[in-house]
Amino acid sequence: MDQERLLRELSEFLRIPSVSTLPAHNQDCRAAAEWVAAELRRIGCHDVAFLGSDTHPVVWGQGPEVAGAPTLLIYGHYDVQPPDPLAEWTTPPFEPALRDGKLYARGSADDKGQVFCLLKAINSANPRVNFRFLIEGEEEYGSKVLFDLLKREPQRVRADAVLVADMSYVAPGWPAVYTTLRGLCYAEITLRTSKTDLHSGEYGGAAPNAHEELARLLGRLKGADGKINIPGFYSTVKRPSQSELAAWKKLPFNEKDFLKQRVQGKGLVGLKQYSVLERLWALPTFEIHGILGGFTGEGAKTVIPAEATAKVSMRLVPNQKLATVERQLAAAVQRGSPWFPRWRRRVPR
Ligand SMILES: [Zn+2]
Repeated sequence: MDQERLLRELSEFLRIPSVSTLPAHNQDCRAAAEWVAAELRRIGCHDVAFLGSDTHPVVWGQGPEVAGAPTLLIYGHYDVQPPDPLAEWTTPPFEPALRDGKLYARGSADDKGQVFCLLKAINSANPRVNFRFLIEGEEEYGSKVLFDLLKREPQRVRADAVLVADMSYVAPGWPAVYTTLRGLCYAEITLRTSKTDLHSGEYGGAAPNAHEELARLLGRLKGADGKINIPGFYSTVKRPSQSELAAWKKLPFNEKDFLKQRVQGKGLVGLKQYSVLERLWALPTFEIHGILGGFTGEGAKTVIPAEATAKVSMRLVPNQKLATVERQLAAAVQRGSPWFPRWRRRVPR
C-alpha cells in the first residue's frame, strides 16, 4: 500500500519537466521547487523558503530544533538535464514507467529519486538531528543562484555534516555514503593563428591552422598514456591511505563489468599503474569537453580557421589548490603553443 503511494508521489515529481538549461522550462522549474517546498512542509519543516530566484530558487527548509543534537545539511537538486535525443528513450522521459522493477524517467536517478528518498527517510526515521534541506534548481546549469546564496549567507549553511544526495550506488544492492568528491577547475583555451580565416586553395600548405595547432597543444597537455603533462600538476597530490585502498578492494567493483556495463566502450584509459577506482576517485583528470571554431555546418567550406577554442576541465584531488592549478594550466598553455594562446577560467554553465 505504502509502495503504491510512494511510487505515485515520486512519479508526480518526475513528471515535472524541470530542465534548468532551457528557458522554456522556467515555469516547470518553479513547479518542481513548489513540489519540494510542499513536501518539506509536510514533513514538519518550518522556515520553508524560496531563495535567490523566482524561477530556479534554492528551496530551504529547517526541521524541528533538537537541543544539543548535531546539525545535518542535506543537499540535492530538483532540476534535470535536457532529455535529448528523444528517439533514444523507450518510454517518454517525463512519463515515469516501471520496467523490471525499475522506474524509468528523466531525473529518477539524478536527482529527484535521491531527494525523494531522503525526504521520506527523514520523515519516517525521525532522526535526532537538526536537519536542514537545501535543494537547488540549477545544478545542471552552473549553480549560480546557490553560489550567490553561499556568498551572501554563509552562516545559513553552517552544519556539522553535509549529506550530498546526488550520488549513486557502488553496485546494485550496495548503497554508499560518499566521504569525498573531487573538485573542478574549468577553463577555455583559445588559439589564434592568423588575423582572419584563410582559403585552403590559396593559403593551404603554408598558413597555420588554428584547429591543427589546438589539437597538437591538447595532445601535449595529456599523453596517450593518460599522464597529464602540466608541469607541477601532480606534485601536491595526496595518495589515499593504505586503509582507504584496502577498503576499496573490498567493494563489489569489477573492472571488466565496469567497462562492459557502464562505459560500454572498447577499453579503459588512464594511468595503468593505478586501479580503476583510484583513477576514478583519487587521481586528478584532464578532459576535453568540446572544440569550437572553423566550419561545422552542412556541406563543405575549405576554410583555414584563424581561431579555435577548447573547453576543458580538471578534476582536483586532496592538496591540489584551484588557484595553483589555474596558474599551472595557463603556464603550460603559454609554453605549449608558439601561437597566440588565450586562456580563461570559466565557471561551467
Ligand atoms: Zn545531480
